Amino acid sequence: MSRRLLLLATGGTIAGQASDPTRLNDYTAGAMAGDALLAAVPQLQDLATISVEQVANVDSADLLFEHWRALVARIRAAFAADPELAGVVITHGTNTLEETAWLLELLIDDLRPVVLVGAMRPATALSADGPLNLFQAVQVALSREARGHGALVVMDGQIHAAQRVTKMATQGVRAFASPGSGSLGWVDDVGVHLPMASGSRRVPFAELALPEQWPKVPIVYGCVEPESLMLQACLNASAMGVVFTGTGAGQLSAAERSVLQAWPGKRPLMLRANRCGSGPVHHHYEDERLGLLPAGNLSPQKARVLLLLALIAGLSRGELAAMISATPLIATP
Ligand code: ASP
Repeated sequence: MSRRLLLLATGGTIAGQASDPTRLNDYTAGAMAGDALLAAVPQLQDLATISVEQVANVDSADLLFEHWRALVARIRAAFAADPELAGVVITHGTNTLEETAWLLELLIDDLRPVVLVGAMRPATALSADGPLNLFQAVQVALSREARGHGALVVMDGQIHAAQRVTKMATQGVRAFASPGSGSLGWVDDVGVHLPMASGSRRVPFAELALPEQWPKVPIVYGCVEPESLMLQACLNASAMGVVFTGTGAGQLSAAERSVLQAWPGKRPLMLRANRCGSGPVHHHYEDERLGLLPAGNLSPQKARVLLLLALIAGLSRGELAAMISATPLIATP
């Protein structure tokens, strides 16, 4: 009996169409439906019975919280309803793919694989990378080896963990990497290679129900003589959370620290990440006084996902700090 897989399509370049096969940048993302992507790879029929659902069909820069809510609800319901479902594959634009992967890592508590996949070239391109990426994502989602590894990203034959993976380049099929740790494994025509055992996994928001309205959590970016009006505007607008993309190991400028210090109102929940692209942000002696928390290994965009969920769950600063230190993926260098 053929194994069952659910394919959730959300758009992106993997579903993109250009007017000419030589056009790699000038195209419409999210122009093809998920079932057309599946039909373009008939070899998938030999692997599994795949049902396709269209959750969205957008450029991933236009993904909305309501799309995240729908994805999470659908994956939870599909796993709960069908014990024989082998896993879920999600086609997604590459620009924000890592944010969705990390969201699912924090919310989906199931041993079965959830695999995200995209493409750097539109479906109409010469040497489009989407069809092989999709085939390999399905191989991974069906594999015993991928069970228990949480949300995974498969691009260009590499298998990445949701927490580490990031898009590192604007062009080229090898645009994804996992700085610091490297990819988890790879997939080829021999099979799925995941040398490290999955180990036990903590899913901090496994029970969290996602609301219609999400909190406002802006990201502030550090640089030479930053405009502290950005931070002031966040405070004035009563943002519930703020992520700092600090310089170096997550540092704020003296001007930004003064804005925080002088703020008379309730402070938002605030995480300090860094703009270096790899390496952790550790505790700093001023964190308590300024109401900050170090974001550990998380990039600013993934720190924001964590903060959004923490705010939805109503966590205090102390509770979020405890969650970060109890989650080795975030806290360990
Ligand atoms: N613009 C695309 C997106 O939806 C880029 C891609 O998928 O590679 O993110």
